[in-house]
Amino acid sequence: MTAKTRLVAGNWKMNGSKASLMEIEAVKTGLANPPGVEVAVCPPATLISRAHIVVGGSPILVGGQDCHAEVSGAHTGDLAAEMLADAGATYVIVGHSERRADHGETDAVVRAKAEAGWRAGLTVILCVGETRAQREAGEALAVVEGQLAGSVPDGARARNLVIAYEPVWAIGTGLTPTGADIAEMHAHIGARLAERFGEDGAGMRILYGGSVKPDNAAEIFAVAGVDGALVGGASLKAADFLAIINAARPAE
Ligand code: PEP
Repeated sequence: MTAKTRLVAGNWKMNGSKASLMEIEAVKTGLANPPGVEVAVCPPATLISRAHIVVGGSPILVGGQDCHAEVSGAHTGDLAAEMLADAGATYVIVGHSERRADHGETDAVVRAKAEAGWRAGLTVILCVGETRAQREAGEALAVVEGQLAGSVPDGARARNLVIAYEPVWAIGTGLTPTGADIAEMHAHIGARLAERFGEDGAGMRILYGGSVKPDNAAEIFAVAGVDGALVGGASLKAADFLAIINAARPAE
């Protein structure tokens, strides 16, 4: 199997205005040439078209943070995957724990959204991860395995799916699992994907997400099975995001 190119994706969540596009501009300017890793920024939907213009001529890709499963219709406030693609997105995040918690998204809903992303030609970043209570109860591996079984559609391939392992208790808290816990979970996810999708499954990238910062990024990228990161808070400032991207670059 060829080595996987790492992906560092920024999830801006519900943050950012026109003025924030200068952060993307600064990432573009500060990227090493070649960057050595794939880079994506997922701003709020209001900024996707503009971000797409700002990243023009650079290797930075733009993504959406969610999509509806349908192509169109009476779904006030929702966005179809096709609309994200039309605005310039290449990626879409589905199943983020904040969507699962705030909007009651079940595995079945997440699966339908992933299929919608593919229908629109997008690469899907599908999030899984356990709560603190589930980890403390020793259920983390089983919970994530259940989420994978329930939310990853049969059409998953290495080229259309990226898994993001994001322990819910590590998101926005400054807490991170130990390297051993991350390695164990990534190996578990990789094994389940390989079991179900064969070589394609083994080729899928598995990102770690949850309080990745400039000062812990190198340590996290050194963990076996970490093929990149989904970065929330630290993706909002170009200097922090660039430091994380640089930490993900393969050793020369
Ligand atoms: C996220 O929202 O996907 C995330 C990982 O957030 P943070 O990096 O802020 O913990």
